[in-house]
Amino acid sequence: MRRVRSHPVLRTLARQTRLSVDELVLPLFVWQGESIPLASIPGHTLFNLDRLPYEIENILELGISSIILFGVSIDKDEKASLAYAEEGIVAKALRLIKKKAPGLLVIADVCLCGYTSHGHCGIVRGQDVDNDETLTLLKKVGCCYAHAGADVLAPSGMMDHVVSALRAELSHMPILSYAVKYASSYYGGFRESTKCSLRPGDSRSSYQMDHANCDEAVREVSLDLQEGADMVMVKPAGLYLDVIARVRACFPGVALGAYQVSGEYGMIKAAAEKGWLDEKAAALESLIAIKRAGAQFIITYFAKQAALWLR
Ligand SMILES: [Zn+2]
Repeated sequence: MRRVRSHPVLRTLARQTRLSVDELVLPLFVWQGESIPLASIPGHTLFNLDRLPYEIENILELGISSIILFGVSIDKDEKASLAYAEEGIVAKALRLIKKKAPGLLVIADVCLCGYTSHGHCGIVRGQDVDNDETLTLLKKVGCCYAHAGADVLAPSGMMDHVVSALRAELSHMPILSYAVKYASSYYGGFRESTKCSLRPGDSRSSYQMDHANCDEAVREVSLDLQEGADMVMVKPAGLYLDVIARVRACFPGVALGAYQVSGEYGMIKAAAEKGWLDEKAAALESLIAIKRAGAQFIITYFAKQAALWLR
């Protein structure tokens, strides 16, 4: 076996999995407040619309071709009114980005948690999130973002039938479903950043998947595809490589992505800061692992650094 490993060019020829910037999607956060660095996602910023055009230029210069856009509202209420307002932050950001960079693929995250006072991804009734009442609002969000110029809608709230609800309204819109999203403790940085942490004692376990389950992921993907999803995603990524591989094997022709979440990113960043890991090597290894498991594209906070590393 060692003969093929004996020369660097030979190793490159024999390499099975490759990584390119075209396969990376950069998460981008926008809000109406001042631009502030995200303390728990180092190297990332919560942008206001004044700073956003500069960041878009930067992204294009790096050769990044797709982003996923998240909105955070300062004003929140029980029914997430600002999530689907024409003058809401995401609708405004979409119009601005599409004007500035029409060729940049913009995926719009479709959820309510950046806009609800309680931080849940839907409308709360009693002790739980009401699925169908939430769907009526998510349809409004989807239509609002589609009209503002989103290229792809990505429903992330794990409500049942959300894909068919969006599909019924928007027959031509590509839908990237967060089909397999686990109730994970690795979202902490994102949650803090988007100021949508739940109240103490609350959890999203009544809609996000139990992290002990894998068979259920196959059912989730199957249902979303039946409902009209065009692409599906597994989230988080690095701790769920078995799930990615399983979905890949069960649905060979389906475009599959994975979301390397803030906690996965933060572990590598923190260890590198302490000198315990080589950041570039560890980050690229983590991304290759996600691809090797079967994901075709990766949403990752390393996108900008990786764009430079892969040049
Ligand atoms: Zn949500």
